[in-house]
Amino acid sequence: MAEIKVHQFDAVIVGAGGAGLMAALYAGKSANVAVLSKLYPTRSHTGAAQGGVGAALGNIEEDSWEWHAYDTVKGSDYLADQDAVDVLCQEAINTVIELEHMGLPFDRFPNGKISQRRFGGHTNKDTGKPVTRACHAADRTGHMILQTLYQQCIKNDVNFFDEFHVVDLIRVDETVRGVVAIEMATGEFHVFHSKAVMFATGGWGRVWEVTSNAHSLTGDGPAICLRRGIPLQDMEFFQFHPTGIYKLGILITEGVRGEGGVLINGEGERFMEVRGYAPNIKDLASRDVVSRAIYLEVKAGRGINGQKYVHLDVTPEVVNHYYEKDGEDRRIDRAYIEAKLPDIADFTRTYLGVDPVTEPMPVQPTAHYGMGGIPTDVNGRVLIDANKTFLPGLYAAGEVACVSVHGANRLGTNSLTDLVVFGKLAGKDMATYCESAEMLPLPDGAAAEVIAEFERIRQSKGGVSPTDLRKRMQETMTENVSVFRTEETMKAALDELKELRAQYQSVEIQDKGKTFNTDILEAWELGCLLEIAEVTAVSAYTRPESRGAHARDDFPKRNDVDWLKHTLCHRDGDGYRLDYKPVTLGRYEPKERVY
Ligand SMILES: Cc1cc2nc3c(=O)[nH]c(=O)nc-3n(C[C@H](O)[C@H](O)[C@H](O)COP(=O)(O)OP(=O)(O)OC[C@H]3O[C@@H](n4cnc5c(N)ncnc54)[C@H](O)[C@@H]3O)c2cc1C
Repeated sequence: MAEIKVHQFDAVIVGAGGAGLMAALYAGKSANVAVLSKLYPTRSHTGAAQGGVGAALGNIEEDSWEWHAYDTVKGSDYLADQDAVDVLCQEAINTVIELEHMGLPFDRFPNGKISQRRFGGHTNKDTGKPVTRACHAADRTGHMILQTLYQQCIKNDVNFFDEFHVVDLIRVDETVRGVVAIEMATGEFHVFHSKAVMFATGGWGRVWEVTSNAHSLTGDGPAICLRRGIPLQDMEFFQFHPTGIYKLGILITEGVRGEGGVLINGEGERFMEVRGYAPNIKDLASRDVVSRAIYLEVKAGRGINGQKYVHLDVTPEVVNHYYEKDGEDRRIDRAYIEAKLPDIADFTRTYLGVDPVTEPMPVQPTAHYGMGGIPTDVNGRVLIDANKTFLPGLYAAGEVACVSVHGANRLGTNSLTDLVVFGKLAGKDMATYCESAEMLPLPDGAAAEVIAEFERIRQSKGGVSPTDLRKRMQETMTENVSVFRTEETMKAALDELKELRAQYQSVEIQDKGKTFNTDILEAWELGCLLEIAEVTAVSAYTRPESRGAHARDDFPKRNDVDWLKHTLCHRDGDGYRLDYKPVTLGRYEPKERVY
């Protein structure tokens, strides 16, 4: 076997999205940091985020971080840890201003301050009416965040290993020693020996068939952690965004509704209001509420032409929304839509041939965001049990981490906030940790196990196509563990996933080479997806209540007496073991959510 290249750094960060880059910037202030990414950094999914980053700047109307915290807790269906939510909402304000100072080109109000718009679930606590809290750069906010942070990292000499695919964590008892990665261009294995490791690998929306997530979002980070004895938290809570482009899943930002866009069913009704789903906040209710409403409208035969979609309408004839220009209030028009939602207009024209200025857009819920993930505290330190014991040197931040600030349902704009706030705190903690921690020796054969697994996949003649297996997984998850679930559907998914896991042992790939072998990497990613799908289904199956994104037809009510707690799912031999830990409550007592 060829010799394995070994590199040494104080800290290794896996992932170059918003969370990884923010952490690298801060950890890099005193530690020697390497960022490993399977994608070129600026291709990370953060670059696809459209609508905005939430912070109570109050640039045009009254707002406060306490209101932001209240909305986040309420949106989470009370499963968020309230101490962490306070940190998120308080720190958001300075962190957004810090991004502006780094050079992020936010849109501006006529008064020169950062432009903010409305977003689902963000309200004025006194009136219950929507508040403008989403700071944005047109509908390309994530793109701007990613570019700005990448430039800052380059300026500050962060070391990048682009197109290095991390496939294992080196853990020895209660310590971490680094990671194993494959250099995609050559197929060679590399060991990155370090004092600290951070996973910032993003989401896993590719478990489902219709998703807003990039092809690369395959849950590698959480799957690696699970295999190395770390539990995954609250995996039953996966968000379906209400407005994906019909059949394609490509996201249409909630910013469209923030700019006045409305949802309309096959009978021409504004169903969010007319059918009583959210009579007050209407189309800007939280995402779980709107996705379920669309599902129920379609089920009742009120989709457009009886099909599985509804319309999202932002045409100026329908939308009663005004903006200020040259000191005057103007009804929104083509120029305004083109300026505020340029990418959305482009997507719908390109993919659907629909001009959103003159026609409504066909939409359906799309798998979007994992509220659960690798359990951490507010400093990104990974927690490995219900007593909150942490594993020294191991960190997680961004979508892959579960702090938990999003609880059972995340509010729009709170992910970008999460990346920059907790990316920064985790990066800082990592730097401090590296100052005093020792570089422990690498164990013998640190990469042997994962190399053997790759050889197995390369040599396999089992004849099972990874593409077919992935399709079956996505179909069963979409059919059975989606917007609504029942015991019966989840049981069906679990049986099918068990069968798929067995068949995974026989996957056969076509490309047996080393150079840019995406065939073998995708087959390995499929192994991660299958594991994440099972953890999701197992965690969901065992929660007999409806809360946030976890909606059960057979248990339609939230049950705070028995289930106001976080799920921890451990891998246990060939199966899974569940454990629970209490939610940290605070100022906001659990109440029924009314929108
Ligand atoms: C279309 C879309 C629009 C969105 N809009 C908004 C919005 O307006 N506001 C908001 O708050 N949120 C939004 N979100 C959610 C938000 O964008 C994501 O949750 C967030 O960007 C995730 O950032 P991250 O840093 O955690 O990971 P990502 O940006 O997804 O980056 C993951 C990184 O991990 C790397 N990686 C993964 N696996 C490996 C591996 N095995 N080895 C090496 N590297 C690996 C990748 O190369 C990549 O660099 C949106 C999401 C989508 C999909």
